[in-house]
Amino acid sequence: MRVIDCSGDPQQIGECTGEALRLEIAEHIELFPMQRWQEFDARLPDFLEALQRHLPQVLEEIRATARGAGVEEREILRLNLPLFAAGLDPDTSGCTNFVFSGGRDGPLWGKNNDGCEPHRPVVARYVRSTEGIPQVTFTFAGLLAITDGMNADGASGLHADRRPPAGKLDAHQRWHFLDRALGAGDGPPPDVDVSAGCGGADAVPQPGAAGTDLEFARTLLHHHGDVVSLCRHGEPLGYHSEYSMIGMSASCRLLFCDIHPCEQEYQGLVVQ
Ligand SMILES: [Zn+2]
Repeated sequence: MRVIDCSGDPQQIGECTGEALRLEIAEHIELFPMQRWQEFDARLPDFLEALQRHLPQVLEEIRATARGAGVEEREILRLNLPLFAAGLDPDTSGCTNFVFSGGRDGPLWGKNNDGCEPHRPVVARYVRSTEGIPQVTFTFAGLLAITDGMNADGASGLHADRRPPAGKLDAHQRWHFLDRALGAGDGPPPDVDVSAGCGGADAVPQPGAAGTDLEFARTLLHHHGDVVSLCRHGEPLGYHSEYSMIGMSASCRLLFCDIHPCEQEYQGLVVQ
């Protein structure tokens, strides 16, 4: 996985990001060419007004990223403001994450980011803003999203999918699986219909004598089962684990790797 390191004000961070990721941003745009420019352009004034009013520094960084990468500004805008078919709710299966509140390695979180082919170019952005706390964000080249990352205080943000079966059966099965592995009960409340299957046939890994530690986090992220796999290799739904992360909040340490954690060595860095 590419790791880039940018510092300064939003303009400097954006230009640095664009320059460092020229190839990856071009690849991202080519892999996912915009199909709905007319619809996007109709919404663009609202996007810009909202960014200008609420997140002017983000807009500044987006514009600087486009300059640095040598691409049209609206290409970077549309990567950051996707037009999901179902409004604001992406019509896709989600990712898998969990949090341990304690253990010999302190509180930690783990996540596999799942997606279908073709995979977007992934990057770890180490950002040292003149006005903020240093942070590392995992995202796709050209995006500012801070949906997965940790700062130098150990504060983290993650996103995942725990939808009921009406949303996605696969996400629901992984939800049950993790609740059982972490002793958080047997899953969703009784009023949620789980009759279509919840991965009950799989043996669920349990923490060893050391409890919920780094080793157990790796075990979960590498898990392949008959019904539920957290390391995903295409079935069901064509999803693969396209990158994997472990955050250790007490030591501000991050471990991460590209596609299929079961086949990769994790890289590591300390956010400071
Ligand atoms: Zn695997």
